[in-house]
Amino acid sequence: MPIADRDNDARNAYNPWSRDWLKKPKTFRAEGYLEFIRTHPCLECGDPKTVAHHESLGQNMMGGKPPDTHAVPLCVACHDMRHHIGAENFWSRDVRMAIIQLLTEYLRNGNPDPADI
Ligand SMILES: [Zn+2]
Ligand SMILES: [Zn+2]
Repeated sequence: MPIADRDNDARNAYNPWSRDWLKKPKTFRAEGYLEFIRTHPCLECGDPKTVAHHESLGQNMMGGKPPDTHAVPLCVACHDMRHHIGAENFWSRDVRMAIIQLLTEYLRNGNPDPADI
């Protein structure tokens, strides 16, 4: 493709008059995935009654809530503790790995990719 055409394509792809780039990025939400998370025992103590805690992986500097794909199961007591002492002091395990394992299990169960919904 001639360079001039390529430049035109790039220009067409970026529309400076569009206000879309001003919009806040949409945070991923999926209630079905949260239900799945709550069927798991607490990651820290194994208590079977859990809530879905949204773990921040350091990308939420704007103060928004992390996406539902970062949800992990914690019992009420551990959840309170997590918010009280912070992620660095709380986790005795690799929470990123736990998030990946939970997402993998969800997909293996034949559920649609929560990021595509
Ligand atoms: Zn617990
Ligand atoms: Zn929480």
